[in-house]
Amino acid sequence: MPHIGSLPKDCRNCGSRELYATEVSAGGGYAPNYLPGLGTFWRSARFTVVVCRGCGETRFFASVKAISKLDEGKKWRKL
Ligand SMILES: [Zn+2]
Repeated sequence: MPHIGSLPKDCRNCGSRELYATEVSAGGGYAPNYLPGLGTFWRSARFTVVVCRGCGETRFFASVKAISKLDEGKKWRKL
């Protein structure tokens, strides 16, 4: 898990500390691609998804590898 140490420890919505995390594809192919240009040719970028057991709030975190590609190409503009 590339996010150890940087994922939230408690829920910003309800304050619960019962958070669960998993890693999923950010889409592509037949599904919408939520992290375009940040994966590889053969594999979409990955999200770590964090769900709160207390209230269900769900947060998505792009993988470190995906973040490292933000400056490549023209898909993303800095705000
Ligand atoms: Zn919550």
